[in-house]
Amino acid sequence: MYLILLGAPGAGKGTVAKMLLKEHPAAHISTGDILRGNVAAGTELGLQAKKFMDEGGLVPDQLILDMMKGRLAEGDAQQGFILDGFPRTITQAEGLGKILDELNITLTGVVSIDVPEQIILDRILSRRTCSNPKCQAIYNVKFMPPKVEGVCDKCGGALIQRADDNHETVRNRLAVYKEQTAPLIRFYEEQGKLFKIDGTGGTPSGVYAKVRELLG
Ligand code: ADP
Ligand code: ZN
Repeated sequence: MYLILLGAPGAGKGTVAKMLLKEHPAAHISTGDILRGNVAAGTELGLQAKKFMDEGGLVPDQLILDMMKGRLAEGDAQQGFILDGFPRTITQAEGLGKILDELNITLTGVVSIDVPEQIILDRILSRRTCSNPKCQAIYNVKFMPPKVEGVCDKCGGALIQRADDNHETVRNRLAVYKEQTAPLIRFYEEQGKLFKIDGTGGTPSGVYAKVRELLG
């Protein structure tokens, strides 16, 4: 399974990815997670990416493509992957196409998770993320709370609100999504790769069931 999950911030890409992985072994590649890991570790890439992330803007395409070229060439990605948060621009999608050609990989499909903006804002502001860079599990204080308040079920790490999960940054991220990422829906539709799903179906497991149905 070589899958791209497409959707606005807060659409549930990360949550759906983690659920799919329980049954389909594949590399979960989240560019947001990789970037946050780099910021936490203070790498050169992290230093360059941080200012864009803090503002809710996009990290420049070339940095992302270089990072992903390396990541997709790693052994685990050859058996299958779920891309979460990449590609985010037409330039990135074209770059990904070249990388996959070189690796002789054909995309299984692109799942576009559709959620209206009002719901997204509410979800993101109540989202909490595990502060352990190796875990980064996602919770929601309203819809998917951890067993113990403020503590990650999986690793015991402290749950935090991501620096970019605030009102103003979210508005920027949604505007950037509309302008730069939403055109990818058309791009993959024209390639006959797109599956659209409604991401408002209450529980994330309902969305997950639909993804599985689409993939057969
Ligand atoms: P969300 O989907 O909730 O916006 P992510 O964790 O996917 O969050 O991304 C967080 C931030 O990391 C983005 O706002 C952006 O600054 C940066 N980022 C992640 N993936 C990409 C990408 N493919 N291209 C450019 N910037 C990216
Ligand atoms: Zn954790």
